[in-house]
Amino acid sequence: MNIALIAHDSKKELMVQFCIAYCGILSRHNLCATGTTGKLVAQATGLDITRYMSGSQGGDQQISARISCNEIDLLLFFRDPLRPKPHEPNEINLLRLCDVHNIPVATAEALIHALERGDLDWRTIVNPV
Ligand code: PGA
Repeated sequence: MNIALIAHDSKKELMVQFCIAYCGILSRHNLCATGTTGKLVAQATGLDITRYMSGSQGGDQQISARISCNEIDLLLFFRDPLRPKPHEPNEINLLRLCDVHNIPVATAEALIHALERGDLDWRTIVNPV
């Protein structure tokens, strides 16, 4: 599966810890990420990650374009709902695209376990947002 990773600044450490914890599962999939998120996760885990531009430079829009082309199967987006910075990816647009393309959106823990069980093999989960 093609999995995209994005973390707002205040959630980047959480994303790193999540990817360390689930490195074994993630390593069996194709990963891509916005620039800084991808760099931090790759450094901490050694995972092979295609890095797009930083969110402030349009990396989230590069991932959005892949979602629009049905090239992303799962989005792990760790967002800060309370203090997002002005340049950080706009979750409304990303989540809308996930809805349009039937890409699962849920808590990361739920998704990673569903992924491991094979529940997401052909997007059996309807977006619960
Ligand atoms: P980054 O992009 O991973 O490059 O920081 C996401 C963000 O801006 O929050």
